[in-house]
Order: sequence, then C-alpha cells, then structure tokens
Amino acid sequence: MNTPAATPALPALGPSPVAAGDLQLSLDEAGAAIAAALQPRGGQQDVPLAQALGRVLAADLLSPIDVPAHDNSAMDGYAFAGSALASALPLALRAVGTAFAGPPFQGPVGAGECVRIMTGAVMPAGLDTVVPIELCRVEGDPASGLVHIGPHLLQPGENRRRAGEDLARGKPALAAGRVLRPADLGLIASLGVASVPVRPRLSVAVFSTGDELRSLGQTLDPGCVYDSNRYALMGALQRLGLDVLDLGVVRDDPAALQATLEAAIAGADVVLTSGGVSAGDADHTRSLLARMGEVTFWKVAMRPGRPFAFGPVQHGGRSSWLFALPGNPVAALVTFYALVRPALLQLNGAAAEPLPVLQARCTQGIRKRPGRTELQRGIVSRGDDGQWQVAIAGSQGAGILRSMSQANALIVLDHDQGSVPAGGLVKVWLFDGLV
Ligand code: AMP
Ligand code: MG
Repeated sequence: MNTPAATPALPALGPSPVAAGDLQLSLDEAGAAIAAALQPRGGQQDVPLAQALGRVLAADLLSPIDVPAHDNSAMDGYAFAGSALASALPLALRAVGTAFAGPPFQGPVGAGECVRIMTGAVMPAGLDTVVPIELCRVEGDPASGLVHIGPHLLQPGENRRRAGEDLARGKPALAAGRVLRPADLGLIASLGVASVPVRPRLSVAVFSTGDELRSLGQTLDPGCVYDSNRYALMGALQRLGLDVLDLGVVRDDPAALQATLEAAIAGADVVLTSGGVSAGDADHTRSLLARMGEVTFWKVAMRPGRPFAFGPVQHGGRSSWLFALPGNPVAALVTFYALVRPALLQLNGAAAEPLPVLQARCTQGIRKRPGRTELQRGIVSRGDDGQWQVAIAGSQGAGILRSMSQANALIVLDHDQGSVPAGGLVKVWLFDGLV
C-alpha cells in the first residue's frame, strides 16, 4: 500500500539491459530453484542442553511429564474449597497451616478452613481456589488466624494452575526443525530433559578468488585490495551457527582453484566462494566449476549481485553444494542473505521461517525499474510520529562496504515494483534476525 504519488513522479527508467549467455532468473525463481534442488541433510547427535543454543532439533521433543506436574497456586494467598463461595458471603475461614513451594502441605483441611499458600505451592488435597493475599483480611497470626473474604471477589477455581496446563505428558513440546532459542532451552529444562537430539552442524568451506586480493598481513601492492569478503561471509556463517573452514585466497589460476575446490569438497558440506563468476572473468574458472559437477551460472535479476553460480560439485567420492557469489563486497553479502542463508538453513534441517518484514515509510524517493529485485542498504528509525521510517544508507555502489556497515536493514524493492515516492511504504528486512 504505497501512498499515491503526491510528490512529483520520478523519471521512468528504461528496460534492464540483458546480457547474453547465462540463465536469467528473478530472485524468487532463483530461491525456489535452489530450494527444490536441496534436501535437508540427515543425521543426528545428542548434545547437552547447555550447548544446544542455535542447534536444529532433529526429532520432535515429547514431554515426559505434565507441566506443571501438580495443581498449584498462581498467587500468594489462602487456598480453600471454592464450593464455600456458594454459601453466604463474606466468608471467614480459619487458617490451619502454610503450603510453601516445594513439598506439599500434608495436613487435613476441614470445612470452614483454609491454608496459607505461596505462589507455585502444590494445592492441598480438596482445595481448588486461592484468594490473593491483597484481597482478604487476616485477623491474628497469618498461618492460624481468621481469613475474611469479601463478597464477589472471585470464582471457584480461580488463581489455581492446573497440572498439565502448559504441556501435557506425551505431547510435543517442540517440533523437529526448531532452531533452539533461549526460551526453548528453558522449556526443555522444565521437562527435566538434559540432552537433546540435534542435526550435525553443517560445515561450510569459504574462499575468495582473485589475483588482486591480498590477505591481511600482506603488503597491499599497487592495484590490489584486501580480501574483505571472506571475513564478512565467515561472520555471517558463524551467526548461523555453522562450522567454517577457512581456505583463504585463491589466485585466478585453474590449477590453484581446482586444488582448493578439492580441499573444500573433502572438508565441507558446502563450498562458498566469492569473485570470479562475472562474465568478464577468465573462462577457465567457469569451465572448471562446470566440469567438477553440475554447476549452473545464473544472472539473477537483483541489484546488487547479478552473477551467481550454484550446483553440486564432486571430488573423491564426495559431493558438496557450491555457491559462487559475486566479488563486489556488498553484492556478495546481499546475495548471501537473499539466496544462500535460506539454503543453508534448509540444508541444516531448520524449519522454514519467513523473515520478519517491516513496513517503513521511506524518507526519500527511490528510483526503481520494474523487472529486478533491489536490495538497498537502509537505516531504520522511529519518525516523530512514532512510526517506522527508513532512509537510504549512504552510497549504494556494490563495492561500498561502509554503507552496508552503517545500515541496520535492507530495503527490499520487489521484482515488479517501480519507483517509490518519498513517504511511500517499503518492505524492510531488519538486520536483527537476519545477520
Ligand atoms: P569479480 O566478481 O571477481 O569480478 O570481482 C568484482 C569486484 O569485487 C572487483 O573489484 C574485485 O576486486 C572485488 N572483489 C572480489 N573479491 C573480493 C574480495 N574477496 N574482497 C574484496 N573485494 C573483492
Ligand atoms: Mg575476480
């Protein structure tokens, strides 16, 4: 629901220039093609609960117990038989002891009697209602005095939690595919479960390609740049809780590339490279990749990040999935988030969860040509009216990492969408949750 173009319409842009050669796909088509090719990797291992954060649950986790295990009090107050509420009010009940959280109160409770009770304490036998301490008046000692309860304050059964109310024994507490979060660890602990079956961690080999790339610690020769992609991508992989195999920088040389690719396949489930897949790159890179498996080269209709290659690569009886990203640092990262991240989650067995999408008002107009998805770096903040707004973060060149670093979100302009006027609503992926 973009606001109508109240501001002057932005100039229309011409059709996207189409380069010959590689398969042209929209971002959605590319994502769907990758998802269709991949199968979650099987296998499972038991890990202690304290080490399970971020791991993917390999099987449904059934509750071995009722949670809570007993009827218990939701309040500090006095427990009594709710049937007493049917008789003449106000009530005056004699306290006959105290039920603390922990071992249940054992004593008998007769008609006209009540038990002082703490939050979480087991409901004494025969009692089903709790009057909160602030709703009654106690005459005498709290554990043995007379408790006065006014009329119309509560219903029978109130302020009591039922056994199995949170979770009944034998019912699934968490489903297979769940990426375990802090609350999940708490939930599992509340069931008394000490270890959980999780998927083995997916391993990803990372290397950068390019004669011009220098590793950290090396001299920056004329015309060279430091390899930044590897660090950004390794960070993104660590955020996903994956095992990372760092294979460094590889020259644009078929023999070196082949050797590194073989090491990557031997050591990892997934091979993630950047650079060297654009049309201008030496043909040997592309032919080598194609020769080592069934890698296809795509021009994904997205900006930044067009050249992209994907497919299985084989060596020595092992097979890995190759994702080759564009070399431009922002293009590499954005392509990673848009296409590789969901694929890695899928391979890792994680249940598909859509990214939370925010609608934010754009503080400026954005020129956009229909026919490709554009992912712009944005800075989301609260406007004066309390609504979310988003501004373009600095220069949007595909090589300009600084604006990616300054951004806290990606503005997603869909394939068919045109220019957006200032004040129009745009879709935003917040980095929190994504990166
Ligand atoms: P390519 O995709 O290999 O044609 O590279 C496109 C641009 O990205 C070139 O300017 C490269 O120097 C740059 N580039 C490629 N790989 C990296 C990297 N790992 N770190 C930083 N810049 C890179
Ligand atoms: Mg290159």
